Amino acid sequence: MSLKRMGKGPMHQRRRVILLFGAGIVLPSLLLGYLAFRGIQNDRALLEKERLEKTRETADRLLKTVDAEITSVESALAKLVAGHSGTPGADWAVALETYASDRPLVEQVFYLQDLEDIRFPIACLLYVPDGRRESSLSLSGLPVLPAEFQAAQRLEFQENNYPKALAAYRKAQSGTSDPRLAGIVLNAIARTQKKSGLLKDAISTYEQIAREHGAIVVAGGLPLAPSASLEICHLAREIRDIPKALQMSIGFYRSLIRREWMLERAEFDFFVGRAKSLIEELLAGKAAGIELAPWQKEFRDLQVEEAEGRLRADRAAVFEQDAAPTLAARIAGGREASNPTFTSPTFTRLALDIANVTYLVSVERLAAQTANTPIRAWGVIIDAGRLRENVLRPALLDHFPSGEMSWEVKARDGAVLLSSGNPASWPVVFRTSFSSNFPDWTLEFRQPPPRLIKTFLLSRRGLYSFVFLLLAGILVFGLVLTIRAVSHELELARMKSDFVSTVSHEFKSPLTSIRQLAEMLQSGRVPSEDRRQKYYDVLLEQSERLTLLTDNILSLAKIEEGRAEFTFETTDISALLSGVVASFQERVRHEGFDIGLEVGDALPLLAVDRTALSQAVTNLVDNAVKYSGDSRKISVSASLKGETVAIAVRDFGVGIKKEDLDRVFERFYRGGDALTRTVKGSGLGLTLVREIVAAHRGKVDVESEPGKGSTFTIRLPLPQREGA
Ligand code: ADP
Repeated sequence: MSLKRMGKGPMHQRRRVILLFGAGIVLPSLLLGYLAFRGIQNDRALLEKERLEKTRETADRLLKTVDAEITSVESALAKLVAGHSGTPGADWAVALETYASDRPLVEQVFYLQDLEDIRFPIACLLYVPDGRRESSLSLSGLPVLPAEFQAAQRLEFQENNYPKALAAYRKAQSGTSDPRLAGIVLNAIARTQKKSGLLKDAISTYEQIAREHGAIVVAGGLPLAPSASLEICHLAREIRDIPKALQMSIGFYRSLIRREWMLERAEFDFFVGRAKSLIEELLAGKAAGIELAPWQKEFRDLQVEEAEGRLRADRAAVFEQDAAPTLAARIAGGREASNPTFTSPTFTRLALDIANVTYLVSVERLAAQTANTPIRAWGVIIDAGRLRENVLRPALLDHFPSGEMSWEVKARDGAVLLSSGNPASWPVVFRTSFSSNFPDWTLEFRQPPPRLIKTFLLSRRGLYSFVFLLLAGILVFGLVLTIRAVSHELELARMKSDFVSTVSHEFKSPLTSIRQLAEMLQSGRVPSEDRRQKYYDVLLEQSERLTLLTDNILSLAKIEEGRAEFTFETTDISALLSGVVASFQERVRHEGFDIGLEVGDALPLLAVDRTALSQAVTNLVDNAVKYSGDSRKISVSASLKGETVAIAVRDFGVGIKKEDLDRVFERFYRGGDALTRTVKGSGLGLTLVREIVAAHRGKVDVESEPGKGSTFTIRLPLPQREGA
């Protein structure tokens, strides 16, 4: 930076720069940023709309998936029904059973007899309603009991003569060939054996009955097997055969639940009740050596199975009893309404509420109706639980896999049937239900509102916006840099103007005194020789000062403009220092300064620019003199310190404050201390020293303590082997 260019109106300039920058760059970039922000917000709304659209489409596909499952159940039934005619009989059974077992969604298949009675042709229910079995089994009455059997009964019941009764029964048994009669007789034998304490015999007889005559039906259509099995269980316990008793009773319970025999509800309840209390007693008792845990587990599992079976049976019973009128009305109505001449089978889907139980029913209205086809409609009850768990849940997970979307399936009463488990605080974005409300559930989709940042990254304008924001950022950064640069310039300008005033003063005051003294000497008005000598000293000092100042300014200007030329000559540093010190001694002698010089032995010769280095040391000594305060002692020394020659100038004066230490070498910088301020100076001396030392590839540093003095040290590197 040239010394000639001085800052002019720095404050004004600064304001102008900032104004220009603000108007030309910051404002437009802020506007851009705002536009970008608006753009992002628009994009967010758009994105939200798109997302909703996507959700809607996905939900539609999902509903169709569920619908397709139901349709496949319906069309299979339609096909099956079309392939058969007349009342469902044995020929239907296999096909219907395959149909139902192949389709887990089928809870029950039914038909409407004369549009009045509901029938479950293949219902595998735990029990049939009371009084229903007789009608389904055509019993030809009990067989005629032979005379021997009646005689044995008399011996057993009237005379209580069991041995004789047993013998009589056996006789009756050998005489019969009717299998039903054989079963009845065996039953009597087992009973008599039990009465006469032949428990083991009784067990094996009951086992034989269960094995060979279990299906024999006695009064009321009840088969022999369940009673025989129950007897075996009790007898086994009575003879303390606990393992057998457990095995038999759990087996019996299992057979009951797995519908080994067709029982009416009261019978089922009776047998199940007996079996369960027996099992509970056995499990509660401490039977040595038997591992009970597996039995307990099986018992628990069976109880669950029983509960499910009962639910199904009860649902079927209620449906059978009460649904027919509603169904008939809906089918008839639907038919009228849809198409009076329809010919193709169509299914009507209904979510029926009967006695507080919901049934998902799909009924096919049959087209072909002749006098001898009393069945007018077939239907299927859809298993809502399975529809929910096996169809809807996987479909939901499949269509809405991520945690981005939360969904809930709600029943008509608002109860949550399925849930994705995401936060329920998200707003509902979309609600839908199944076509014709079948099943009668609502699907709710929730989503967190799209994040601004995310939108920003996702949006098509994101890149532009990003660039805008980046631009704005860069501009703000630029603004900060500019302000800093301007402040720096201002500071420099201030220092320069300080410089101008101090330097002009620096020139002026010695010149004035030189002139005055010279005039006085010339006019011969100085009387004594002594006085004249003093005036010569002052003249010399002042002109030296002027020389130093001019030298400093010129040298620094040369160095900064790159015009400085250094001539390196091999020099004895000791001699160079002696010269500087001697000339100073001369100059400041009248002020009482004592400048000591100490040079270590074996100081090598160095290649230096003598004038420049002398100027540097002169500056340091001059500073030492200027900032000595009341102290009058200064020491200059040179010594070998490792790979360098250290030239130190030490004073015991005012010292330098810590915060100034780093800055004293800066151009125009002058210490902020009031004391130092009273000393004249240009702030250029140390800068020049630094430049000169740098030209010698050396370094200059300072150590100082306020009030105690300072030491400036120039460190010059030794020549590297063969000359520097
Ligand atoms: P100046 O013309 O002001 O002396 P210099 O560049 O030589 O300029 O010195 C810069 C500043 O460093 C001085 O203003 C002064 O505050 C401080 N300074 C330099 N040498 C000494 C010293 N020996 N003792 C105390 N302060 C010093």
